[in-house]
Amino acid sequence: MRTKSYCTFIVLICCIIALAFEPGNAGAWVRHNLITRYALEGLSWLDAYDKITVTPYSYRDDSLNPDCKIVYTNPDPAQISPPPERFVYYTLQSEEKAGFKGVGIGRKTSARQILIDYSDEPDWGMDKELKLSKAQFLMAGSHGYRHMYYSAGDWHLPYLFFPQGVAPKRAQHFYGLAKQALSRGDLYWGFRFLARAIHYIEDIGQPYHTTQTSLRFIIPGSPLAGTTQATKNYHFAYESYVGYRLQQEAAGLTPADYATALKQAPAIKVNGVAGLLKSMAGTNNKHTGNTFSASVDLFGAGLRSKQKVPLTQSQVDVMLNNQKRVEFDRMVQQALTLTGGGVRGFMEYAKRELFNADK
Ligand SMILES: [Zn+2]
Repeated sequence: MRTKSYCTFIVLICCIIALAFEPGNAGAWVRHNLITRYALEGLSWLDAYDKITVTPYSYRDDSLNPDCKIVYTNPDPAQISPPPERFVYYTLQSEEKAGFKGVGIGRKTSARQILIDYSDEPDWGMDKELKLSKAQFLMAGSHGYRHMYYSAGDWHLPYLFFPQGVAPKRAQHFYGLAKQALSRGDLYWGFRFLARAIHYIEDIGQPYHTTQTSLRFIIPGSPLAGTTQATKNYHFAYESYVGYRLQQEAAGLTPADYATALKQAPAIKVNGVAGLLKSMAGTNNKHTGNTFSASVDLFGAGLRSKQKVPLTQSQVDVMLNNQKRVEFDRMVQQALTLTGGGVRGFMEYAKRELFNADK
């Protein structure tokens, strides 16, 4: 047991050193818009806010990348309705606004649409290329540092015995801005800031965002760069595959297994925003080992490579008929139940606290 722990520690050190030179390891869920759409189903109180005027941004937030511009509508029409049968291999560099159309200033939209559209927004560059913490160099830069959270009790470096990553603080930050906007009567930005907070909640429901790496991804002959690349291969494969399945389900091409997990997720009881994300990370960590094993089983050992191994459309189509999918799906559904429960709990909390309902 002691030997195993020692080995784990050494491998983690090796992997993390390599991560320092490999920015871009941290993705997230992709297709946050679909995740949010399903997670909000059944929250009928949102339907009362169906004619909200889009207002220009008039808030001060010094925490964002200053080069990042506010986007209201998708500048690339080709991204608005991606063909559901097309598999996209996403990396952090993708920044693809798949499924996002948006609504321009002065026009009308709904609370539900704002939450769906802009739960993807924090992946559009606002957290990139910032200097936040020494730990960010071990978490794939400032973006990863803000979109992940490693609990104190989980193995990670450099701050082994302390929590690492600030996703809970980012969710809290945007919840505070939502409160400010709503106190001004600005419903549009109130909901858009809530959408940004939802993004971080959803990210913490993604198992690869709460555990740094795993013994399962070791490349014996290349414990540094090799293991790091292997971890990235599985991380991106997981996200891209789940995004593809959600897209197919939305188009009615496959049974709605993932969507159902989100829709039926019981709302988590929430007493505070940052506390919600911390408790979600703790829950997730109980299952990350099984998720990583199921990932290796479904995607195959070929991704455990020191080379970049992207998933391809033909591979994914074969996987849809693979029996290994059963256990993988079970783990994804567990993660999506946590994710959906977090979003629903958060919105019920916002309803009580910000909209003075059911106090
Ligand atoms: Zn993210």
